[in-house]
Amino acid sequence: MECNSPLEPVAKSAVEGKVPPYVFATQESFSRCPGCRRLYWPATHQQRMAAELKALQSQ
Ligand SMILES: [Zn+2]
Repeated sequence: MECNSPLEPVAKSAVEGKVPPYVFATQESFSRCPGCRRLYWPATHQQRMAAELKALQSQ
């Protein structure tokens, strides 16, 4: 790890064109490391949707 800075939240409108289009389309919250300027986003949303679909199918 190059920096241990806490991530700071970034508005979705500020990351348009800076993240892959599918990420922009599927993610609602983004964060940026103030040390290296790298953008992060939670990748849990699609996993949760997949889990819910699986639960529906098993009923
Ligand atoms: Zn960093």
